[in-house]
Amino acid sequence: MKIVVAGGAGFIGSHLCERLINLGHQVTCIDNLITGLEKNISHLSSSNKFTFLKKDIAEKIDLKTELIYHLASPASPADYIKYPLQTMMANSLGTKNLLEIAKTNKARFVLASTSEIYGDPKISPQSESYWGNVNPIGLRSCYDESKRFSEALTSLYKRQYYIDVVIIRVFNTYGPRMRVNDGRVIPNFVFQAMKNQPLTVYGDGNQTRSFCYIDDMIDGLIAAGESDKASGEVINLGNPNEMTILETAKTIKKICAAGSKLKFCPRPEDDPMQRQPDITKANKILGWYPKINFEKGLEKTVSWFFKEIV
Ligand code: NAD
Ligand code: UDP
Repeated sequence: MKIVVAGGAGFIGSHLCERLINLGHQVTCIDNLITGLEKNISHLSSSNKFTFLKKDIAEKIDLKTELIYHLASPASPADYIKYPLQTMMANSLGTKNLLEIAKTNKARFVLASTSEIYGDPKISPQSESYWGNVNPIGLRSCYDESKRFSEALTSLYKRQYYIDVVIIRVFNTYGPRMRVNDGRVIPNFVFQAMKNQPLTVYGDGNQTRSFCYIDDMIDGLIAAGESDKASGEVINLGNPNEMTILETAKTIKKICAAGSKLKFCPRPEDDPMQRQPDITKANKILGWYPKINFEKGLEKTVSWFFKEIV
C-alpha cells in the first residue's frame, strides 16, 4: 500500500514509518523538521520503500496515496509554547491540505489528535463521549484548540465529502527517540536521574498521567489504519495505568538507580490535574490493549537514552 506519514521524522512518526516499511508498505514521510530529527529516519533512507520529503504541510502538497497518517504537529508543551503559530497552522491549514489529498485520492485519513482536547478534565477516566474542559485563550490553547479544530475539520470532511476518516486521541506516549531536551516529563526525569541531578517536579507532583509505551501505540495506530470497523470513529489510545508525577519520579529513580533529590518548581499554566484514558472503545473496535507495563517500557527507554547521552 502507498502510505503518507506526515510528521514521520518525529518521535511517534519515525516508529510508525519503520513499522509500516517492515509490513511491506511504500512510505512517504513529509516533515519540516521543526521538532523532528533527520537522524530518526536515517536508518530508513536506504530502503527503496521509503521517501522523505522535507516540506511544511501548511503549504499545498500533491501526492498519490491510499492512506494518510497526520502526526505533524509539535507535541511537547515546551515545543508548542515555543512555536504557537506553527502549531496552529499545522493543525488547521496542514490538516486541510492533507484532507484534500485524502479527498482527491479517496484515501483513508487517520488523524493523531490528543488527550489534550479534554483539557483539565472534570471526569475521569476520559471516554470519547466527553467534550472536555479547555481554556480557549491560555498558553496551551495553541495546541488544544487547534487539535479540536483539526478534529472538527476532519469530521466535516467525513460528513460533507464522505472521506474515510479515523480520529485517534493519543494519550501520553514515551520511548526511544524522544528528544532528550524536548521538555516532557519522561525525558526530563530520565536525563536528570542519569546525571544524578535533582528531578524537576512541577507543582506538588500530585497531578496524574497515564504513560503508554511507543510499541503499544504503534500497534494501535496500525490497527486504526487497517480496521474497517474504525472508519468514521473517534478512538482513545493510551495506557490506563494512571500514576502521580511523584510516583513517576520514584519509578524512574529506581530504574536508573539514581540518588537524585526532588526539586519542586512552579506548575505550568493550565497543566491538567488528571489524565487517564478509557480504552473500552479501542479494545472493542480494534481489539487493542497495551501490553508493556511502565517498568518494562522505562527499562527499554533508559537503555536507549543511555546510548544517546554517553
Ligand atoms: P514530535 O514533535 O516528535 O513529532 C512531530 C513531528 O511533526 C516532528 O517531526 C515535526 O518536525 C513534524 N511537524 C510539525 N509541524 C509540521 C509541519 N507544519 N509540516 C511538516 N511536519 C511538521 O511529536 P510526537 O510526540 O511524535 O507527536 C506526534 C503526533 O502525536 C502529534 O500530532 C501529537 O500532537 C500527537 N500526540 C503525541 C503525544 C505523545 O505523548 N507523544 C500525545 C498526544 C498526541
Ligand atoms: N512535569 C514535571 N516535571 C518536568 C516536566 C513535566 O513535573 O520536568 C509534569 C507536568 O507539569 C505535567 C506532567 O509532568 O503535569 C506531564 O507533562 P508533559 O510535559 O510530559 O506532558 P503533558 O501531559 O502535560 O502534555
